[in-house]
Amino acid sequence: MAASVCIKWPMVCFQGSCHLLAFIGLFYIPSCQWRTLLFTLVLAELSILGVTSGVHRLWTHKSYKAHWTVRLFLMLCFSVSNQGAIVEWVRDHRIHHKYSETDADPHNASRGLFFAHIGWLLTREHPKFIEACKTISCDDLMEDWVVRLQLLGSPYSDLVCSFIFPTFVASYGWNEAPLHALLVAGFVRYVFILHCTCLVNSVAHFYGTTPYDSKIRPTENWFVAFLTVGEGWHNWHHTFPYDYACSEHGANFQYNPAKMFIDCCACLGLVTERKRALHAWHTKQHKLYALDQAKQF
Ligand SMILES: [Zn+2]
Ligand SMILES: [Zn+2]
Repeated sequence: MAASVCIKWPMVCFQGSCHLLAFIGLFYIPSCQWRTLLFTLVLAELSILGVTSGVHRLWTHKSYKAHWTVRLFLMLCFSVSNQGAIVEWVRDHRIHHKYSETDADPHNASRGLFFAHIGWLLTREHPKFIEACKTISCDDLMEDWVVRLQLLGSPYSDLVCSFIFPTFVASYGWNEAPLHALLVAGFVRYVFILHCTCLVNSVAHFYGTTPYDSKIRPTENWFVAFLTVGEGWHNWHHTFPYDYACSEHGANFQYNPAKMFIDCCACLGLVTERKRALHAWHTKQHKLYALDQAKQF
């Protein structure tokens, strides 16, 4: 039976406005200074790094431990992505793993590509999802002062980081026209990164291969991995959610700058206890081991 849909009009208006401004921003790209374009690219990569290495691999799955300097850096990067409070993002994603492709899954892929991509953000939550929220604990997050700090300021601090900060830097740093900076480094970059993130929930649940567990929908998708600094190896990730690399192979074989960032931090002594699932996979005990480890997110 088709699920009834109730539209969240404030979110539709916000996203509609952002997408319109991003579309207008596309026409401002040719007249931007090269510094602004480079800054936009760097900011885009940093904000998706905040999503992948930060809110996903660190705070949702606890696949490694990080020094407060790394956590603060990732929190600021995540704030630039303007994807809400860390605690809410983590809650949604833990539910996505626990109730994958059921009505409780916030971006249930069995409701279609559009719903899994962005429709879920624009519509009221399914009652099963609201029920599922009561079964998921995010208490562990509140022990981290970095998460509490972000929660204190969100969503206003996110808007400042995502739109005011890039405008200020480009305008005062190299005399870019404020409107160019706001539209290109702000709105074009925000909307682009939002859709890159959403591709993991949509395209990486529809198109690609399933070498690790053919009974689940999530796939290995290099295109999504390329756009999300390494989050497209999604069949491995749903099989072994606790693996900090979110992929079987090293970054030389599977595009994964998020793993490289974590490894670099580990070399500097700022990251410890990186979990891997290679042994579990190679000894074919992966299902039992994964179930056991999944309890730790
Ligand atoms: Zn997924
Ligand atoms: Zn995950």
